[in-house]
Amino acid sequence: MSGDKRVQRLIRPAVLSAAAYRVPDAEGLVKLDAMENPYIFPESLRGQWLERLRRVDLNRYPDAAGRRLKDLLRRAFAVPDSAGVLLGNGSDEIIQMICLALARTGAVVMAPEPSFVMYEVCARIAGMEFVGVPLDGHDFSLDLPAMEKALELHRPAVVFLAWPNNPTGTLLPRADLKAVITQSPGIIVVDEAYYAYSGHSCLNDLERHDNLLVLRTLSKLGMAGLRLGFLAGRNCWLEQLEKLRPPYNVGSLTQASAEFFLEHLEVFEDQVKRVCAERDRLTSILAAMPGITVWPSSANFLLFRVADVPASTFFERLKEKGVLIKLLDGVHPALEGCLRVTIGTPEENETFAAAMAAAAGV
Ligand SMILES: *Cc1c(COP(=O)(O)O)cnc(C)c1O
Repeated sequence: MSGDKRVQRLIRPAVLSAAAYRVPDAEGLVKLDAMENPYIFPESLRGQWLERLRRVDLNRYPDAAGRRLKDLLRRAFAVPDSAGVLLGNGSDEIIQMICLALARTGAVVMAPEPSFVMYEVCARIAGMEFVGVPLDGHDFSLDLPAMEKALELHRPAVVFLAWPNNPTGTLLPRADLKAVITQSPGIIVVDEAYYAYSGHSCLNDLERHDNLLVLRTLSKLGMAGLRLGFLAGRNCWLEQLEKLRPPYNVGSLTQASAEFFLEHLEVFEDQVKRVCAERDRLTSILAAMPGITVWPSSANFLLFRVADVPASTFFERLKEKGVLIKLLDGVHPALEGCLRVTIGTPEENETFAAAMAAAAGV
């Protein structure tokens, strides 16, 4: 039997039909495609950080429970005492653990759409059914009655809700979020990946709702390379998810680095302030460009639509000018003509704005 036939016979259909996550090559380009914080950790603190890493003995396995790190995360992000914390190699890994734990026959994963692609990817890989509830095509707000109907009809095991949402940047009103939480028959995971930029959290609602879990990551705050995410919630859920966590999923270097960075959180908070100021400035610049529609964002990126030129042409023209953003046209019907740009440094944003003006022919 040829190797290829064996592949077809042995690999699950859900995996065979999936596509691997593709990351475009950004070499030599102004990288504004992946919601990274554009600022680096200051030179003045790098020595101390490396000093900390010198003390890590890599012959030993990492602390499997990540005790120190969890304590620091709790303190840094004000996780309620009654909640448990689960560590992930990025929050992507936690999304996968949640799906694996809930993948009973016929179980449904639900999320508004368009939203973060990993919800659907992880659901399908786990063999679950994914149901997307379309956001309003005009302002990307949640159609609450449609959501309530979908919850009633599909009885999802889990609802993923990115708050604020990626790729739209919109922040569902708290009252609507609460309605979704109370009406969800299963778990609801509120993904607060952009918490640093929105300032809104429902960590304090964990005590009130026994089906709520809150997902956080250090990636968008300025540590995307670390790969560290965490889930906060009731211990009855986390105890089960712990069984799906590979025991040493967060390495010693990540733990030591994260501990050091969390002790200097003010550095990142200052960077976030600068990014938010730039977000507001760039929103005005885009809004003033003819043929461009930009949506207000509570995150560190902007979604915009181009009217006069195909989005893919626009994307290529920006790339020719040395700027990489994200082309969203074709990803979902509601994103026709849309692109997403991550907020960079003032200089990067100037380069982007100039490239935009050139690409639009204004
Ligand atoms: C970027 C992003 C993540 C992934 O974060 P990692 O911790 O880097 O895996 C999760 N959720 C949303 C909504 C995101 O935009």
